[in-house]
Amino acid sequence: MATARKGSVLPIANGNDMKNSNDEPVLIIGGGICGLLAALMFERRGMRSIVYESREDPRIKPWQAGSAFTLGISYRSWVAFERYGILEDIRPHLLPFVGRAVHLPDGTIRRFHVPCSDQTKKLLFFLARELLVKLLLAACESRKIIDIRFNCKLVRIAQSGEITYTDAKGQTRSQMGRFVVGADGAHSKVRESMQFLNFCTIRKAYHEYGYKQINVTPTASGECKFDPSTMLHMYPRSDCLFMFLQNKDQSSCGCCFTTHATFESAKTDEEIIEFWKTRWPDLMTIIPDFLKQWKEAPVTPIAQIQCSQYHFKDKIIILGDAAHAVVPFFGQGANAAAEDVCVLEEFLDQFNGNVQMAFEKMSETRVSSNQALQDMSNSNFDAMKKMSMWPIIKLILEAKLAKVTPTWLFEPLPTIVLYSRTPYDVAEKRAKTQDRVLSALFTGLGIACLAALFKAVCARFPA
Ligand SMILES: Cc1cc2nc3c(=O)[nH]c(=O)nc-3n(C[C@H](O)[C@H](O)[C@H](O)COP(=O)(O)OP(=O)(O)OC[C@H]3O[C@@H](n4cnc5c(N)ncnc54)[C@H](O)[C@@H]3O)c2cc1C
Repeated sequence: MATARKGSVLPIANGNDMKNSNDEPVLIIGGGICGLLAALMFERRGMRSIVYESREDPRIKPWQAGSAFTLGISYRSWVAFERYGILEDIRPHLLPFVGRAVHLPDGTIRRFHVPCSDQTKKLLFFLARELLVKLLLAACESRKIIDIRFNCKLVRIAQSGEITYTDAKGQTRSQMGRFVVGADGAHSKVRESMQFLNFCTIRKAYHEYGYKQINVTPTASGECKFDPSTMLHMYPRSDCLFMFLQNKDQSSCGCCFTTHATFESAKTDEEIIEFWKTRWPDLMTIIPDFLKQWKEAPVTPIAQIQCSQYHFKDKIIILGDAAHAVVPFFGQGANAAAEDVCVLEEFLDQFNGNVQMAFEKMSETRVSSNQALQDMSNSNFDAMKKMSMWPIIKLILEAKLAKVTPTWLFEPLPTIVLYSRTPYDVAEKRAKTQDRVLSALFTGLGIACLAALFKAVCARFPA
C-alpha cells in the first residue's frame, strides 16, 4: 500500500499558495478519483485539505452495482499517478489491454489485436473503479495533511466560499476554507451553487441509453470465463450494446447499455430470459446467475454536463465529472478528471500560485477541450451502435498507415487521445483534417484506378 512518497515530475512552485499545514484548508467536495487526486496534488504543494465524501468508506461498505465498473486507464491518468507518487501502488493492479473481440449477432467472433506501442506508457490498462478509489484513499491517508471525512454531504456554498454540509450524525455544519474544489461528480451540488453565484450556463442532459452492470466471476480454477487473449468483449445489437472489460483478478465487469423502454420491456423472468436468449445466447452459459443479477442491478442513467465556466472568482473550481461528465464510449471521463488535476497544478505553477488566475485559465482552456471530448464520445457511440465493422477496420488501417508515416504527418485519433496529453479539441481538429486528406486521397486513388481500367478496356476493345 501507499507510502509517503512524493512525485517528482514537476518542481514545486514558490508561489503564494505555498502555505504550511496550519493554514486554512482547501475544501474538496467528493472523494472519488478526481477529489482524491486533487488532495494528493495540494499535499505535494504543501497545502492542507479536507475531503468531504457523502458515501461510506468503500473499504467498509462496498459500492453497489452501477458504480463499481471497470475503467480503461490511459496516459493522462498515468501522468497523474506518476506525478503524485502513487504509480507503484496502482501498477500491480493494472491489466494491459491487448485485444478486443466483437461478438456479432450471427455468433461470429471477430478478434482484433490492439495496435499499440511497446512503451508501457503508451498502453491502455483496465482497473476496477472501486479498487482505484481504495488505492487513492490509502495513499491520501498516508499523507499527514489530508483529512478525509466520510458520510459528509455538501448542502450549499455561500458567496464567501463557506460550505454547509451534513455530517455522519446528520448534523448541519459549516466550514470556511481557502477555496472549494467541486469534485462531486455528474450530479454536483458545488456546480449547482456556483451556477447561482456566477450565472454561468450549465447544460445537463441524459443520454438515450442507460446501463445495468453485470459481473462475471472467474472459473473455479481462477481463470477468466472469456477468451483471455482479448480483454474487451463487445456484443453490439441493433437496440443495445453489452461490453465486458476484464480485470487483473480474471473477473470481468459488463455494462449493458440500452434505452429505458428496452430495459422496461424485460421485467418478468420469462421476458428477461427471452431478452437474453435472442441477443446473447452464449452469455447465458458464461453468466449462470444472469437472471438474479439483471433483476437486482439498477438501471443507471448517463448524464452529460456542459458548463460555460468552471470557476467562481478565486473561491470555487469544479473538476472532473462535476464540470464535464461525458458518455463512456471513448473511455476518457476518469482520464480527463485526472488530467484536470494536473492542468490545475500546472496553472498554479505558471501563475506563481495566484489562484484566481489559475482558475480563470482552467475555464479558458478546459471548457473547449472537454466539449470536444463530449463530441468525440458521442460519435464513438454512434459508430458502435451502427454495429458496423468499419470503425474497427478504419482503426487497423490507420494504425498500419501510422507505422509508415511520420507522426507529424499522420497519427490516428485514438492514439492521440489515449497516449498523449494533446488537448481534446486539438486532437479532434487534427483528426478531422486527417480524415479530409485521407478521403481526398482515397477518392483520387479510386478515380485513378477507374481511369486506368477504362483505358485498359478501350485498348482491349478498340472502336
Ligand atoms: C459505465 C461507465 C463506464 C466508464 N468507463 C470509463 C473508462 O473506461 N475510462 C474512463 O476514463 N472513464 C470512464 N467512465 C467515466 C468515469 O467513471 C468518471 O468520469 C469518473 O469516475 C469521474 O470521477 P469524478 O471523481 O469526477 O466523479 P465521481 O467518480 O462521480 O466521484 C464523485 C464523488 O463525489 C461524491 N459526492 C457526490 N455528491 C456529493 C456531495 N453533495 N457531498 C459530498 N460528496 C459528494 C460521490 O459520492 C463520489 O464519491 C465511465 C463511466 C461509466 C458510467
